[in-house]
Amino acid sequence: MAKRKIALLGGTFDPVHLGHTAVASDAAGRIAAEKVIFVPAKRSPLKGSLPKADDEHRLVMIAIAIAENSSFDVSDYELRKPAPSYTLQTVRKFQADYGSDAVICWLVGADGVNDLQHWFAIEELIDACNLCTMYRAGCEPPDFAGFEGIWGRQRVQKLQRNIIKTPLVDISSTEIRERLAAGGDLADMLHPGVLDYIRKNKLYL
Ligand code: ATP
Repeated sequence: MAKRKIALLGGTFDPVHLGHTAVASDAAGRIAAEKVIFVPAKRSPLKGSLPKADDEHRLVMIAIAIAENSSFDVSDYELRKPAPSYTLQTVRKFQADYGSDAVICWLVGADGVNDLQHWFAIEELIDACNLCTMYRAGCEPPDFAGFEGIWGRQRVQKLQRNIIKTPLVDISSTEIRERLAAGGDLADMLHPGVLDYIRKNKLYL
């Protein structure tokens, strides 16, 4: 029997935007994942700066953004740990929760492919889950061939098998924060409830 697939989408979600929910939904469909769990990080070990909004606000914004989608969930697991949070530990925790009849699929945007080599225990992570790289339509798919010398052929083949094409959604949290600070229009980038929450709590000013 085929194993259940549980997808995890990690990130800082500072704030969560319609790009995140659109690609999560599309990727889940393509890999037949029964759910996508958003896993906000306390901070990204590879991003120089801390998130602008605090943990609780980022968590609430995700809860608002995913409320209408019953196959989406959010976990505060990484937020409750001392920083930084490593993906391998998170994958192992969810694998233990869901048991051996489930495959954990960690979704990562293809823009982060070159950073993968710097991730903590990346080889163990590739072995421990399906590391699925989502590349945007209209862009070149990622090519892991250059990593064969360090990660070995089997790992590279596994990565290549788990490449997912997702729709192009040209939105980033960075652009949203800049627009918010400049008083620009954001209706097409954020869930209306998230925009409301940001305004009420005077975030990213
Ligand atoms: P920032 O602009 O602050 O770097 P971001 O918008 O890239 O933020 P993250 O929280 O870093 O958001 O992203 C979480 C995950 O979602 C990452 O794997 C990232 O590559 C992916 N992602 C973010 N925005 C998009 C998008 N528009 N389309 C596809 N994937 C995305």
